[in-house]
Amino acid sequence: MRRTIVIVGGVAGGASCAARLRRLDEAATIIVLERGEYISFANCGLPYFVSGEIASRAKLLVTSPERMRRRFGIDVRVRHEVISIDRSGKTIDVVDHQDGRTYRQAYDTLVLSPGAQPVKPKLPGLDNPRVFCLRTVPDAERIRRFVDQNDPRAAVVVGGGAIGLEMTENLTHLGLRVSLLEMANQVMPWLDREMAEWLHQHLRFQGVELFLNSPLERCDENSDGRLIVRAGGEHEIPCDLVICSIGVKPESGLARAAGLDIGPHGGILANEHFQTSDPDIYAIGDVIEVEDRLTGEPRLMPLANLANRQGRLVADHICGKDIRYPGAFGTGIVRIFDLAAASTGANEKALKAQGLAYEKSYTHPASHAGYYPGAVPMVMKLLFEPDGGRLLGAQIVGIDGVDKRIDVLATALYAGLSVSDLAAIELSYAPQFGTGKDAVNLAGYVSENITDGDVQAIHTEQLDRQLQDGGRLLDVRTEAEFHRGHIDGAVNIPIDDLRSRLDEIPRQQTLLVYCLTGIRSYYACRILRQSGFDALNFSGGYMVYCAAEPSRCKGIPGLRRWKRTLAMETFCSTPEERQILENHSARRRLQEQEDHAVD
Ligand SMILES: Cc1cc2nc3c(=O)[nH]c(=O)nc-3n(C[C@H](O)[C@H](O)[C@H](O)COP(=O)(O)OP(=O)(O)OC[C@H]3O[C@@H](n4cnc5c(N)ncnc54)[C@H](O)[C@@H]3O)c2cc1C
Repeated sequence: MRRTIVIVGGVAGGASCAARLRRLDEAATIIVLERGEYISFANCGLPYFVSGEIASRAKLLVTSPERMRRRFGIDVRVRHEVISIDRSGKTIDVVDHQDGRTYRQAYDTLVLSPGAQPVKPKLPGLDNPRVFCLRTVPDAERIRRFVDQNDPRAAVVVGGGAIGLEMTENLTHLGLRVSLLEMANQVMPWLDREMAEWLHQHLRFQGVELFLNSPLERCDENSDGRLIVRAGGEHEIPCDLVICSIGVKPESGLARAAGLDIGPHGGILANEHFQTSDPDIYAIGDVIEVEDRLTGEPRLMPLANLANRQGRLVADHICGKDIRYPGAFGTGIVRIFDLAAASTGANEKALKAQGLAYEKSYTHPASHAGYYPGAVPMVMKLLFEPDGGRLLGAQIVGIDGVDKRIDVLATALYAGLSVSDLAAIELSYAPQFGTGKDAVNLAGYVSENITDGDVQAIHTEQLDRQLQDGGRLLDVRTEAEFHRGHIDGAVNIPIDDLRSRLDEIPRQQTLLVYCLTGIRSYYACRILRQSGFDALNFSGGYMVYCAAEPSRCKGIPGLRRWKRTLAMETFCSTPEERQILENHSARRRLQEQEDHAVD
């Protein structure tokens, strides 16, 4: 007998599942019910559609209901919303929004892939029509239409996660002055605070007004029709539109009402085959809680790659394959103007919260060979087990080459590799693409030095304690670098003078050695330790210190290098530099206009 498989939700997880089902089972009746107008659209492209970087809506539509019917023989019903599940009768009630009729649909197997919904807090004024969320194509069209028709000057983006950052960039590109509100002390929660600081400084440089530690309170409309956003007990920000991107919550209402088990974060609980507490009902995608492969804890991981993978696997299981989903690490990347920020696995905040033992390293490897034009350093943080060095997580911020390095590290994490393995893996090299010691290899070497005991690392948060215990800060950069900025209380002996000036260094004190990035200080530590000193290497150096303690430094010194490399497109610290940049940007805008004219 032909079985009927009904899928709720026709985008990332649902569409993948439907297509895979058909490839495995030519006989089944496969029905996809989608509440919205479109199936299989690219949510991830929506912010770029708002700014026009993705010019046409058609580009966002990966496939159509007609194509799914024609090619796969799948019955796709758009604007059909499932409103209830009768588990004992194995039926669902569906509203056809095209004519308002409600009908009952029988299933043998039901797959829930209804995704997640943007969180819109119940705060005064958030029901204003100029407060937008972004999840669907119509949402993006509404924002784009509003911008086209109203010529707004200023926007407030609430929430500094991936979607908030992408909207900040795209609204800035549209010429709006953007204020970004974030409740936490950092944007991009996947990253640790000191890694996010690079983004903070870059956002500010790009003209974004960044408000950290500033929870949204309300949104009022004043007499001349402008919106006033109030946040953090002190900020009042006038604007013309608000984007609310403070996160998503699983669309688990249907499952909850049907009595299916729901997890601690409000997502549906599913087993390793994606079966819910009712074995004939499966759930995948943003709506489920996924087991974190490192901590074993259930987590919400609203990521497209996971939904797509789960869509395929659930179809496999329905068709009799013995699949077992092992959980996920969570790997993501986001672009913020010129920067890419990426992470995989656990961050330090999560490891601390779980009470897991870890060590960490920071490196600033080049995107490709320094002698070949365009090379630019990135900031890489690895987290690994102190014993054995198994990789636990990685974060990278940079301009170029971030994507390929994070994907190598995600693969290493998947394979359970250690930092010594990272040092050993063979990666491709030609000067345009990498370095003889690739960024990943380098991070492996630096971390392996720690696990092997060749050097003992010290980090910003340990500094005060070490100084209280009598430690002595030694800066081994050049005098010029030292005078441009250093950690309070440091003594400067440049690395090249160190051997000849050892008698100036007290032998009774622990030396806390730093340079700009942690490399020269590592050499210094090796000299010092072999000469009988107790020396600790400040991992990541002054650059990481300034990112971790921005109020104690005048910017992060590494930003200057990025600025040079980008030919003034990014960071400028002086008014003269800014002027040069503005001239440059004006030229670029002119060029872009000319290019469009030619198109
Ligand atoms: C603006 C934006 C940018 C993003 N960028 C990225 C990115 O760069 N990288 C990344 O990995 N992820 C990104 N994501 C997340 C990614 O889109 C999601 O993780 C993924 O789409 C989840 O797939 P899903 O099938 O669970 O849900 P969805 O793709 O959201 O599909 C769920 C569908 O179910 C439908 N539905 C819900 N309830 C019902 C019902 N009762 N009856 C019928 N239909 C129903 C909804 O209308 C919806 O169309 C982004 C998301 C957004 C919104």
